[in-house]
Amino acid sequence: MPMPTAVPVLSVVVPMYDEEEVLPIFFERMHPLLDGLGISYEVVVVDDGSRDGTAALLSEAVRTWPQLRLVRLLRNSGHQAALSAGFRRARGEYLVTIDADLQDPPEVIAELLAAARDQDVDVVYGVRSDRSSDTWAKRTTARMYYRLMCRLVGREIPFDAGDFRLVSRRVVDAVNGLPEDGRVFRLVIPWLGFPSAEVRYVRAERAAGVTKYNLRKMLGLAFDSVTAFSAAPLRLATWLGLFGGLLSIAFVIGALVIKLTGQSIPGWTSTVLAVAVIGAIQLLCLGLLGEYVARLFLSSQKRPQFLVGYDSLEDPGHHTYAE
Ligand code: UDP
Ligand code: MG
Repeated sequence: MPMPTAVPVLSVVVPMYDEEEVLPIFFERMHPLLDGLGISYEVVVVDDGSRDGTAALLSEAVRTWPQLRLVRLLRNSGHQAALSAGFRRARGEYLVTIDADLQDPPEVIAELLAAARDQDVDVVYGVRSDRSSDTWAKRTTARMYYRLMCRLVGREIPFDAGDFRLVSRRVVDAVNGLPEDGRVFRLVIPWLGFPSAEVRYVRAERAAGVTKYNLRKMLGLAFDSVTAFSAAPLRLATWLGLFGGLLSIAFVIGALVIKLTGQSIPGWTSTVLAVAVIGAIQLLCLGLLGEYVARLFLSSQKRPQFLVGYDSLEDPGHHTYAE
């Protein structure tokens, strides 16, 4: 059966990297569930350059599940990049992103959809009401991460909301319209500011296989998160420069006092003076450079200044003088 060409109501985007163990269970649970929703749908599986049997299993599955769509990335590009690919490819009116490992129960998809329709919102976050399935280290680092990010993004970021969420077509188009690379979805979506709701769910253990997020990928996500929303690390040089400048003034005074009281070794005063002053000047210049780089960086992201949510001119139920 060929792929239906009409726009489906729901697109389910699933990034997958080396998930051969979990794949059969995932399909077994997902397929009847989505069929049972009673709406048109597509499942966009983004194979993030898997090197195990995932690709073969997927090619097999596409033949028996017409709503299954396969997007394969050339190489492993990371979870967020795989989600980006899914956002660009999906066609549905609503888009749900879900992990392949069944940590996010697929049964909750119906609740996300119902919340979006009943409350007429564009974003429905899946929020973990219980993280006891995660290790202590993961819970602690996650808490630190969300706290820091709330401050940097300057908006409410739902705590414990991962990448299990539903968004409307408006949000998908807005995200795809952002020119920046390396976007972190769990920050960019709250940053856009569309009306949102939350659905609580209990996060399960990984159904099979091991985590595909190693320490390097986790640190990468943390660095991307900070640098995408803040130039604060670049400003550090300015503050260090100012601090160094004050310190060197104290040094110079100290060195002169020692010289005048006649206790100094010949050459010591001039050496200390030179080191302190040059060090401070260098740090200040670095800080200045940092300020300009920060400006360039922020403007190079080319984020839209605003996104229009409603315009009465485009609303048929609202009369304006433009008629
Ligand atoms: N994933 C991916 N590319 C990667 C790493 C992970 O597409 O480079 C997918 C993975 O297959 C899974 C989801 O992202 O569907 C979340 O990964 P995982 O469950 O390993 O992360 P954890 O739940 O341990 O944070
Ligand atoms: Mg997982």
